[in-house]
Order: sequence, then C-alpha cells, then structure tokens
Amino acid sequence: MRALCWLGADGLAVRQVPDPELRNSADAIVRVRRSATCGADLPLLAGRAAALSVGDVLGHEFLGDVVEVGPGVRRHRIGDRVVVCAAVACGNCWYCRQGLFACCDNGSTGPAAAEAAWGQPTGGCFGQPRSAGGFAGSHAEYVRVPYADVGAFPVPEPVDDDRAVFASDAVPAGWLAAELGEVSPGDVVAVWGAGAVGQMAAQAALLRGADRVVVIDRYPQRLSLAQRHVGAETLDYLSVDVPAELRERSGGRGPDVCVEAVGMAWDGVEPRSLAERFAAAWPGAAPDRPIAVREAVHACRKGGTVVVLGTFTGFVDTFPLGAVMQKGLTVRAARQHGQRWIPMLLDRMARGEIHTGHLATHHLPLEQGALGYDLFRTRADGCLRTVFTP
Ligand SMILES: [Zn+2]
Ligand SMILES: [Zn+2]
Repeated sequence: MRALCWLGADGLAVRQVPDPELRNSADAIVRVRRSATCGADLPLLAGRAAALSVGDVLGHEFLGDVVEVGPGVRRHRIGDRVVVCAAVACGNCWYCRQGLFACCDNGSTGPAAAEAAWGQPTGGCFGQPRSAGGFAGSHAEYVRVPYADVGAFPVPEPVDDDRAVFASDAVPAGWLAAELGEVSPGDVVAVWGAGAVGQMAAQAALLRGADRVVVIDRYPQRLSLAQRHVGAETLDYLSVDVPAELRERSGGRGPDVCVEAVGMAWDGVEPRSLAERFAAAWPGAAPDRPIAVREAVHACRKGGTVVVLGTFTGFVDTFPLGAVMQKGLTVRAARQHGQRWIPMLLDRMARGEIHTGHLATHHLPLEQGALGYDLFRTRADGCLRTVFTP
C-alpha cells in the first residue's frame, strides 16, 4: 500500500510499504477514508521527541471502513464506517477501567523509553515513535487498529467524513479540557491557541455553560473561524496585552479557567531564558518552551484552574511555580481519553451542537502529504488542518 513516511533528513514522502495484517484477535484493519494532520506531529518532525525511525508512517486522526476483523472483535463488522480514537488503549487494565485510557498500561509496544523519561509508560498513539506506541500511522491506505472494540466507533449517518475525522482527537481533546477545568455555568474561560484543539476546547466550554470564552492567537483567519463557527470571543496577542484584556473581560479577576492548547508550537514570543535560547539553537537537546503556559498561569484568577492540553515531551524551565503556589492555582494536564467520550461527541456532532466542518481548511490527496504538512506547519494560506484522502 501507499503511505506517508518519515525519511529523516529527507523529510516526508509517500512510499510503498507492506499492507498491515491482523496480529491479534482484537485487531481490525480499516481502509482509511480521511486522515488529518495534527500539531502533536510537529514536535516529532522538528526532532523534539524521542525519535521516529526512517520509514515510520505518520498520522493518528482518521476514519475509514472496516475491511477485516480478528476473531475477538464483537462490535464491528466488515463495511462499518468507523472513526478511530488517536489513543491506543486495551480497555482492560486498571487505568482503562478508571476511564484513563491515555494512561493505559498496555497501549504501547515500546514502553522502556517512556518509562525512563516519565517514570511510567503511557498509553499508545498511532503514528508515533516506539516510546509512544509504535503503531503505524493513518496517513496510509490501510491501518491496523488494535483493541478495535475499545478504540473504533461507528459514525452516525448525518456526520460526513470531513467532519467525523475530528472525533478522533481534536474534539475529545477539547472536551477533556472543559472536564479537567470543571467549567461551570457563568465561568469565564480563556483558551490559548485557535487551532482545532483550542477551538474544540472553546466549544466544549460553551456547551458546559461558560458565560464568556475568549480564544487567543495571532492568525486572523483562525480567530475569525473561532468567532464564526464556535461563537468565541477572540484576542490577537500581537496587538493587545492579553492578561490585562482578560481581566477586563472577567470582572477584574482574570479567567476562572485557562486552557493552553499550544504546546511547543507557540512561536509568537522570543525565548526568555538562556536555556530556551539554547533550545532554539539546538532543537531536540533542550527544554520545551511553555510560553503560553506561563501566560495562562499569570492571567488566571486566584484559585482558578490552568489546563495544559498542548504537547510537551520533556522538561520546561522558567515555569512560574511561585505564581501557582501564591495564587492557589490548580494545574491539570492530560492526553485525551477519547474512548470515554467519542460516542457522546459523535451524537452531539450529528445534532449540530459541535461544529467541525470548518476545521479542514485544506483537502489533499495522500500523494501530496509533504505539501500538506508544509501548509500546516507554516499556516500558509490560512491552513488550520490538512485532511488527506488516500
Ligand atoms: Zn492529534
Ligand atoms: Zn488499558
């Protein structure tokens, strides 16, 4: 089959790779209909995470048709149109039974590196290095889906492919933020990052009854999508003092919940410390840059909650622990536990409560995968997400 592979210094290219095969009884093979780019891939491409191997297939957000099922698969039949959660989880271990699917003990095929870096291995994810799963990605014609009964979900008829693909990751990630922030009616919520995850966090906050939701970014097209399709207020951080403006919009206190949906991709502010300058010069060797996290901590009202949704892989420096302690903040973070919410979220998408139709700004054939990532990474032409069709 054809797949978009990481080729090290040679970048990305579509190559012929072996077709996936059933390996375990709970596996299914899915023929991909759509596969989306994601900001979580960018640290990988920049060499800022435990490395990919040459030939690894990228991509973790996808939907498609079931074409083969193992003997242990109960919930899916050949021909089902399913969206697959980006996170791979067994559904059976202690963590999965608590609903903490992204923490699954059995989701990764190569847990040693994660154990060394983070103390414990985490759950898996498609299209990531062995330390985060080792499962071939979705920018391909076919994908092997492990634990198919746990991670694949039938898509209701009214939700078309281009909308449904975001139920794989961005929609549950946004929902997670509102859950972790315990967003309640009347709250003021600020979201750093108007990418797909940030917009879905804003939408989830509004659905939970937030009074005002303010999305912060520097790209006018993204901000206007967040206004028009999500109903959020927006701030361009290049032209306003963000914490001051947020205080203004929250009765002088600051937002109750601050969501960081940027991760290491934040590029608006110059590095502030020696360690960060070192990191900028030597990607892969040094701390992550939590610039939006710092601003969120600074802006949040006393006693409020900061939710870290962006992807970080290693250490950060100049983290404002003093402000966290002195202001009595709660800081929460997670990768999304989509298996918990995807059916409910698909229902909401079918009822028109969650809008994802505007997120796929660019559609390309898989053959143009490298161009799709270039557009996504540079945000050229107002690119929010590229969606590939194999
Ligand atoms: Zn993603
Ligand atoms: Zn598990």
